[in-house]
Amino acid sequence: MFDIKKVREDFPILNRKVNGKPLVYFDNAATSQKPQVMIDALVDYYSNYNANIHRGVHTLSQEATSAYEEARLKIQKHFNASKSYEIILTSGTTHGINMVANGFSDLLSKGDEIIVSALEHHSNIVPWQMLCEKTGALLKVIPMTLKGELEMAVFDELLSSKTKLVFVNHVSNALGTINPIKQIIDKAHEFGAAVLIDGAQATPHIKPDVQALDCEFYTCSAHKLCGPTGVGMIYGKEEWLNKLPPYQGGGEMISEVTFEKTTYADLPHKFEAGTPNIAGVIGFGVALDYMNSIGFDQIAAYEDELLTYATEKLNAIDKLLIYGTSQKKAAVISFNVEGLHPYDIGSIIDKLGIAVRTGHHCAQPIMDYYKIPGTVRASFSFYNTKEEIDLFIEALLRAINMLS
Ligand SMILES: *Cc1c(COP(=O)(O)O)cnc(C)c1O
Repeated sequence: MFDIKKVREDFPILNRKVNGKPLVYFDNAATSQKPQVMIDALVDYYSNYNANIHRGVHTLSQEATSAYEEARLKIQKHFNASKSYEIILTSGTTHGINMVANGFSDLLSKGDEIIVSALEHHSNIVPWQMLCEKTGALLKVIPMTLKGELEMAVFDELLSSKTKLVFVNHVSNALGTINPIKQIIDKAHEFGAAVLIDGAQATPHIKPDVQALDCEFYTCSAHKLCGPTGVGMIYGKEEWLNKLPPYQGGGEMISEVTFEKTTYADLPHKFEAGTPNIAGVIGFGVALDYMNSIGFDQIAAYEDELLTYATEKLNAIDKLLIYGTSQKKAAVISFNVEGLHPYDIGSIIDKLGIAVRTGHHCAQPIMDYYKIPGTVRASFSFYNTKEEIDLFIEALLRAINMLS
């Protein structure tokens, strides 16, 4: 196991106080905190070699270009993509999903079907609804069970030769369920459908191997795994990236432009129009290096311990109900206390220095399923501790006392 005390020293924000109390940050599923090495990489870029990339002959531009492309190689290695140009740098998960949805509008016709899961982030359902409206394709949904697992038997029934695309998150941000994506990918392939995995919530806990998974697309955001906001990546199999049209027109994505015709640049530039988030991409690479130096196996094992510890403590509280009790879960716990509003609980424990999320977690369909307006969500990272969980439970009990 890693040295938790040393790890916590890497995160300057963990030293601050909130409302006079030490910060306990349990909103990691919304965004992670940042280690000093990642912050330093951003400052270093802007202080020492800030320049636009790919077009300059001058030294700074060459340094910036090579740092940017080195980051792409780190990302390629991390996800085990076979080619560096299968990694498209984006502004985040939302961007990656929209890139694929937009591209599929050229590939779908009336009567085709897209399957999504009931566990999706609702902002990620919208692009598929828009795509279906535009193309006449039908949207089908894999339902969920009370435990927060997908009904795989229904998935089998939904699949047919009409299925062109399956979209599912690797880990649910609202409930923490780890979905059986390898099984989903293999089943979809039996019908020739492509699969896009939303890895936004999985990548802080799990190191995915896109070749072993054999998915067509996999996307994530850097800010959930110790990197900066506004940057992410989408992996796509070369043949699929070639099939999709470019998402945006602009500089970098063209090879030749006349008023009569434009020819598109090769991968990955075809999908990287305009000046990218150069500092962000470099920071993303450094964040991956940092997390790999701790080790994803160690991270997963430690977070599992935190999850078990917190689940036991919460289950011991009267009238508290946890939503999402899947066998396979990442370190996310959604719950309610009977008769109390999640927002009130969140506000009171914030006064005690504790940051949790309250609300529907951009997963309205899941809340509708349980017939609740929202939950309190505590999500843990490898820099959290059991002592922090004790502080959280203490604060929660105080809030329950005050509110009941
Ligand atoms: C956070 C999250 C997103 C959205 O990520 P952005 O960085 O806001 O684009 C999508 N899906 C899941 C499962 C998430 O947790």
